[in-house]
Amino acid sequence: MSPLKSNIESFPCVSEDYIRGLNQSVVAAPVVSASRKRVLIEKIKGLLKQQDAVLVAHYYTHNDLQELAEATGGFVSDSLDMARFGNEHPASTLLVAGVRFMGETAKILNPEKRILMPTLQAECSLDLSCPAETFVPFCDEHPDRTVVVYANTSAAVKARADWVVTSSIGAKLVKHLHERGEKILWAPDKYLGSYIQKVTGADMLLWQGFCVVHDEFKSGELEKLRQKHPDAAVLVHPESPDEVIAQADVVGSTTALINAVNQSTAEKFIVATDNGIFYKMRQVAPGKKLIEAPTGGSGASCSSCAHCGWMAMNGLENIATTLEQGCNEVTVNEDVRVKAYQSVKRMIDFSKTL
Ligand code: SF4
Repeated sequence: MSPLKSNIESFPCVSEDYIRGLNQSVVAAPVVSASRKRVLIEKIKGLLKQQDAVLVAHYYTHNDLQELAEATGGFVSDSLDMARFGNEHPASTLLVAGVRFMGETAKILNPEKRILMPTLQAECSLDLSCPAETFVPFCDEHPDRTVVVYANTSAAVKARADWVVTSSIGAKLVKHLHERGEKILWAPDKYLGSYIQKVTGADMLLWQGFCVVHDEFKSGELEKLRQKHPDAAVLVHPESPDEVIAQADVVGSTTALINAVNQSTAEKFIVATDNGIFYKMRQVAPGKKLIEAPTGGSGASCSSCAHCGWMAMNGLENIATTLEQGCNEVTVNEDVRVKAYQSVKRMIDFSKTL
């Protein structure tokens, strides 16, 4: 029996339906008119300067936010590079547009800085599916395993881990640990864990968390779309189901997929990740055609779409309010932070060796 199969029966995970329900109740940031947008952008630019703040945005946030981050000396990236940038930038306040674990990671690395977020309600289904209350005892039941957790986890889960990783270095780190003879306890994403297990051959015990966005990509519909566009390269984020990953020309982190669009000789791409990434893909390869991988069709739920509802909670209005009022500050218990820092710092140091 594979390490993956042996784990499933006794798994202490949160109900997928419960998490999907939470995601469906999310309210996106309001769409603003062109004139209001101009006013807000000017206001935010002024407030960023006045408060010695820098805007760090994830690839999955709205185009307006990514544009604004770049226009004001901030940064747009995946969670690993957001953390690195925030750590190296001299600003005393980091305004993190993304989801809660990204703000917490910024605080873990920068305890002396003020970390603000446009909203503190933006969750991540991977984080929600791996509560520390059940994860910590699960780890304690497997003391022979090295605990490796994905960045999409709470500070408390990171504090229990030996290592934190992002999708850009997950396989490389697990390979490294496997070569040292270590057995892994992986959390929370079951698909990413399964993919890394296949690629590295490592002995991995997998937590059964999932991403509400990537879980919606449909392999049957993707096959039909590939037949319609046989010249398109298929780019897949490894948080997607195994049958979707199996059809990929490139499997990789958000940054790896953007690089693939830029460097590939293909002119057309079917992209299986959050469609917020199209902003950056169009920027690096303006002439290329991008097609969303299908989330509809057989097995689709009423909430199927290729965009994260929690990421969509970040908007210009709540950025302006946050800066103006100094609200939505991220705090992390200091004992937890100190422990979580060790595993996050290990990831950053390991990434420098690659
Ligand atoms: S897209 Fe998925 S993994 Fe990313 S923040 Fe949203 S729920 Fe979490």
